[in-house]
Amino acid sequence: MADGPAPAIELRGISKAFGAVQANKDISIRVMPGTIHGIIGENGAGKSTLMSILYGFYRADAGEILIAGRKTDIPDSQAAIRAGIGMVFQHFKLVENFTVLENIVLGAEEGVLLNTSLGKARKLLRQLSDEYELHVDPDALIEDLGVGMQQRVEILKALYRQADILILDEPTGVLTPAEADHLFRILRGLKDQGKTVVLITHKLREIMEITDTVSVMRRGQMTATVRTAETSPEKLAELMVGRKVLLQVDKAPPRPGEVVLKVENLRIHDEQGVERLRGVSFDVRAGEVLGIAGVAGNGQSELLEVLGGMRPAQGGTVQLTGEALDLTGSRSDARTRRARGIAHVPEDRQREGLIMDFHAWENVGFGYHDDPAYNRGVLMDNDALRRDAEAKIARFDVRPADCWQKARNFSGGNQQKIVVAREIERDPVLLLVGQPTRGVDIGAIEFIHQQIVALRDAGRAVLLVSVELDEILSLSDRIAVMFDGRIMGERLPDTTDERELGLLMAGITDTDRPVATAEVEANLARSGGKAR
Ligand code: ADP
Ligand code: MG
Repeated sequence: MADGPAPAIELRGISKAFGAVQANKDISIRVMPGTIHGIIGENGAGKSTLMSILYGFYRADAGEILIAGRKTDIPDSQAAIRAGIGMVFQHFKLVENFTVLENIVLGAEEGVLLNTSLGKARKLLRQLSDEYELHVDPDALIEDLGVGMQQRVEILKALYRQADILILDEPTGVLTPAEADHLFRILRGLKDQGKTVVLITHKLREIMEITDTVSVMRRGQMTATVRTAETSPEKLAELMVGRKVLLQVDKAPPRPGEVVLKVENLRIHDEQGVERLRGVSFDVRAGEVLGIAGVAGNGQSELLEVLGGMRPAQGGTVQLTGEALDLTGSRSDARTRRARGIAHVPEDRQREGLIMDFHAWENVGFGYHDDPAYNRGVLMDNDALRRDAEAKIARFDVRPADCWQKARNFSGGNQQKIVVAREIERDPVLLLVGQPTRGVDIGAIEFIHQQIVALRDAGRAVLLVSVELDEILSLSDRIAVMFDGRIMGERLPDTTDERELGLLMAGITDTDRPVATAEVEANLARSGGKAR
């Protein structure tokens, strides 16, 4: 055996099946102490399963776990904590109506009076906060914190339990760019203190930016482990997907036609009477993609919801090919929009795009039920609907290609493909699409982007809302930037860049004025959580 430190984590021959699905196949990996080790792979590759085995949530069917060189049995999460492992889940497991401090202490110390441990915790929390830039108010209620803050609480909770190894499962999926940068600073700080970090993600940029080593998973197997400095995004993409992937969207110049969507002076209040859109005006033409950039929470979501007929507007007008849309928000609105040729891929696909307990074919068929092709007298022709759905599922490479699976059993990326398949195949006049690739793996991103461009090339109008600047820049023919319920300006992708758009996103219009990065960051952070 070679000398040097034992791996912080070593997995040998781990396998795990769920019924017929082999989620992990004979996986071996060594994670060295004091490093940031990335695990990358498409949705459904088996990353979360592997980490759940390591954290004692699932028992492996075969294989063994070594922690710091010692064979360790991890039957439950208590055993994982004893072995020095902390985990930050994709969906946080905090108690909403407890404070930060209470959540951190909760379950950590049995048999100790809560008050004593709260006092101790408060001191330790202050130390940890200073050491790792993990600032949170210990007395804040969890339900009052944004996701970025809640994530910090999860990290603090793990550190409070003296974790040497911290596992983060897709931690940036819910964060703004500024929050993600901050998280990475925290992770580097942890590494500098000798902690071991395992970062699970499907974002190549994050892997390249922060990891020392990266392991690639594909369809339940570990296909490679390489030093990050010795690889490239293109190579990693190929290892993940099993074929070459275009990381850039290939598209011809736009040929814009007549105005399809005309929005004038649109105003929206939320339930609390707070103005979310403060007079927004823009056009989208046939054959073009208008991208709306902005930090989440600046009114983009509300804009899409009004256009999709899911909420009322309090002022302004919207015309589709010259005819006004009803903005009063009556219940049948979403359906009327559909009949008029508006397709909508909503931002929150789980809440608004899918019915999770319905089968894939039913989800692919929603909104088609009134089509004559599927109606035989008073009965639905379910066979025809299902056959059609099957074809769409095949064309969009939804995995598994099983139309009898319930929507909830698909990975996020495949759920998104189901929604996109349904909406795009409708051949709409106007496609509204919000965060089309959020939580989606790169193979599927390439595919979804190609479908959007194909629709535009077929002369349809596309309104794209995305918080991913890369996505905005590569798909849009024109870019409008939203900040605090207003459009700050419009730019062309060829004559702008991330820096200029970033300034607009932070509400700074005078882009000739040199602005310190810190100022922009501060602005972004302020606008990040809630638009006023
Ligand atoms: P990743 O985290 O890489 O996206 P997962 O580990 O979540 O992948 O999933 C791997 C595979 O195992 C997927 O096909 C998924 O549907 C399946 N799977 C995961 N958890 C369960 C479960 N509890 N029951 C059944 N199948 C599961
Ligand atoms: Mg996962």
